[in-house]
Amino acid sequence: MKCANCGSDMRYDVSVMGLVCDYCGAVKNLPKPEDEQLIGDMDFGTAIRGAAADWGVSRRPVECKSCGAQMFYSPDQMSGICPYCGSSVVVSGEEADLGMAPNAIIPFSMTREEIAARFYRWNKFAFWSPEKFRKGKVLENLVPIYIPYWTFEADTVTTYTGRFGYTSEVGESTKTNWYQKNGVVEKHIEGISTCASKKFRDDRMLNSVISFKDSDLIEYSPDVLAGMAAEVYTVGVDDAWNAVKTKALRKRLMSAVSENEHADHCEDLKCSTEYSNIRFRYVLVPVWLAGARYKGKIYNVVASGHNGLGKCSRPLSVAKCVWTPILMLAFLIVGAILGLGPLFFGLLMMAIMAGFIIYIVSFFAAFADQRENDRKKRR
Ligand SMILES: [Zn+2]
Ligand SMILES: [Zn+2]
Repeated sequence: MKCANCGSDMRYDVSVMGLVCDYCGAVKNLPKPEDEQLIGDMDFGTAIRGAAADWGVSRRPVECKSCGAQMFYSPDQMSGICPYCGSSVVVSGEEADLGMAPNAIIPFSMTREEIAARFYRWNKFAFWSPEKFRKGKVLENLVPIYIPYWTFEADTVTTYTGRFGYTSEVGESTKTNWYQKNGVVEKHIEGISTCASKKFRDDRMLNSVISFKDSDLIEYSPDVLAGMAAEVYTVGVDDAWNAVKTKALRKRLMSAVSENEHADHCEDLKCSTEYSNIRFRYVLVPVWLAGARYKGKIYNVVASGHNGLGKCSRPLSVAKCVWTPILMLAFLIVGAILGLGPLFFGLLMMAIMAGFIIYIVSFFAAFADQRENDRKKRR
């Protein structure tokens, strides 16, 4: 950190638990690690009010009558299907104020056909699902939607105290020496993102398929939005920041501390952090949503429109789960009755192994060309 007084580099001084400028003698006190303070917030409200609210397109709000989802469509769409529940929705004729315009967007790079092909390919390998689900045309209403995210970056100064462990090899075994240490680490942290949709914030399926780097983002432009539905943020930026500050950011800072001490382990770590130059971006992320219908029930399908990762909830075949172990057991019992227990056991194990190998080989065969296509695409 530079001295606010003269601009020279400051040095951490344990005796004052702060930064000292050797040049002009200025001292900057830092919070004690034991207090576990998080200092420095920005005035997000003012920042949002000051941000551009021009989306570049007229904004037609849509509220789904059956599930209550709130989205908006671009003006070329008058009706559509609710991505969340599959009901049809009608776009309102009036424009609405959607507040701050997005700063960045990730365009869709996976088509509907590609996602459907991936789904069916995966589905074939869902061994424990009913056959009709595995092989049937169960996917319906694959709908594209942009989901809002907040991304953050900030400069941080963290004071810490804790026990740091260093592992070394002693002959055949390893030994860890522990030292009590305190210090300070400065780090610029970026690429922290969190879902800005209340509907999806805690959705494990969505969160496990969405991943993006700052370099995947392009500047927001209304053309990219054309013909697509988007959700407006429902988690405020200050709520998002508070969540990020205590979870994702804290995790990064912990590893920064550990790295700073070149430690293999650490425990009883306490730290206080001062944030500055906090910057946030409002980002739209492409997602395909769909339902897979089986026996009147809908199983959720979600896929990233950008990296092609997907997740699906699937029905379990009760018959398969019950009969597979029963048949195996019956086979072993027959073997025991015939006095051929070890032979039958060996045969069963070989059958399981063979089944497993066939599964793996056909899996790799099925996905080989998909990987090849992905590689071509990236080029
Ligand atoms: Zn100075
Ligand atoms: Zn709905």
